[in-house]
Amino acid sequence: MENTDVLIIGAGPAGAVAAAGLLNQGKRVTILEKEVFPRFVIGESLLPRCNDILQKVGLHKAIEKCNFMKKGGAVFFRGETREQFNFTETSHGGWDYSYQVPRSDFDKALADAAQEKGADIRYKKEVTGVEFNDDGAIINYQDTGNQKQERIKAKFVLDGSGYGRVLPKLLDLNTPSDLEFRVSLFTHIKNDRRPPDYDEGYIWIVTLPQGGWIWVIPFSNGTTSVGVVALPEVINQAEGTDDDAKLKSLLLQEPSLKKRLSEMEFTMPSKKIEGYSIGIKKLCGDRYILLGNATEFLDPVFSSGVTLAVESAYKAQEVVGKFLNGENVDIQKDYADYLSGGVNCFRQYVKAWYTGELQWLFFYKNKPASIKDRICSVLAGYAWDKSNSYVTDPGSALLAALETLPKEARFNVAGPS
Ligand SMILES: Cc1cc2nc3c(=O)[nH]c(=O)nc-3n(C[C@H](O)[C@H](O)[C@H](O)COP(=O)(O)OP(=O)(O)OC[C@H]3O[C@@H](n4cnc5c(N)ncnc54)[C@H](O)[C@@H]3O)c2cc1C
Repeated sequence: MENTDVLIIGAGPAGAVAAAGLLNQGKRVTILEKEVFPRFVIGESLLPRCNDILQKVGLHKAIEKCNFMKKGGAVFFRGETREQFNFTETSHGGWDYSYQVPRSDFDKALADAAQEKGADIRYKKEVTGVEFNDDGAIINYQDTGNQKQERIKAKFVLDGSGYGRVLPKLLDLNTPSDLEFRVSLFTHIKNDRRPPDYDEGYIWIVTLPQGGWIWVIPFSNGTTSVGVVALPEVINQAEGTDDDAKLKSLLLQEPSLKKRLSEMEFTMPSKKIEGYSIGIKKLCGDRYILLGNATEFLDPVFSSGVTLAVESAYKAQEVVGKFLNGENVDIQKDYADYLSGGVNCFRQYVKAWYTGELQWLFFYKNKPASIKDRICSVLAGYAWDKSNSYVTDPGSALLAALETLPKEARFNVAGPS
């Protein structure tokens, strides 16, 4: 039977980064990807931490060449009130920009660069089963065109299958999320009249008075990604008879977006994802590691998905390289415990966002710079920086910050607390 050192399921950012790192260590890597690239996927606003990882594995140059829109930070709106977070003002330092990327282009650029490094990427190959044994695993897959069944042996399996969640499904690892069931409705538009008095590349996050929020992500090709995230009833009760009309009415109800989006035209029918948050029982076994979205997915509000995907992939390739070299590794401690630190940090921010407390802090103008720049570090993806108390103990740090807020900074936020 054919064999390889590491079999990676999925050629998204997690799969490509893990492959590049393993190839740098001289390992043989095969990626099975069920789609043909370029393919659409949501998750288009990146965080500066991604640059560190892409640079470490030698993929950053491939992305620099793509002329993606540079993202200098995020602007949050609540009605007419706005607050800006700049990546130049983080306590961590590091990269002061990231990118806004149509994922079809970004993922293809990464996968092509990994292929150039030597990754054996096989498109239209869907993994259907994995049998683990003492030496590794036998992976069953089929050609999505002619349904031909094939098998390959690997010493280790990395699951970067994202929403496919191949190993979590096969090994019964999925658990319900402790976050609320939310819906996202989104599309790409043209005729986005980007205001000249704002920094063009920033993501806009606009809160909805009825609960939920909107994203506006500008691309360098002139199109813009727009979407709304909310409880199902907010979407159902929006004006309009179909998803396109509902999305339009939610976008145009907001004072901060009315002018900017007044002439927008959808370039594709709106898409809907429901109940995207999901938990996981464990992140690794003796011969496998779960990466990126195949682990736990929280919520897109802080654009942390791709950052978690590449961070997990980077850590995983380090651990697997050592394992294959016969070094003593504790996969649970060196991989799962490490990764969980950052995920747990983002979890607390997501929860505090939806209870409203984080929004009080965000929109309060007179917060000390020392609070803002440490929160901004987390928003830049530096969620594993142990020198930041907003990372190591976000619960206590946020609580202490909230205690400094005057009463008038505490507004009601719609939705479950
Ligand atoms: C509404 C919404 C908005 C979001 N916005 C953002 C954002 O602004 N910024 C951000 O960073 N993240 C965002 N995310 C999260 C982001 O989409 C993911 O975190 C990110 O795509 C994860 O990357 P990945 O490499 O783990 O998986 P993916 O990018 O999903 O790649 C997985 C790959 O595996 C392949 N695959 C699946 N099953 C199989 C199989 N059986 N065999 C072979 N191949 C398979 C798929 O075809 C796919 O190419 C958002 C998510 C949602 C739901």
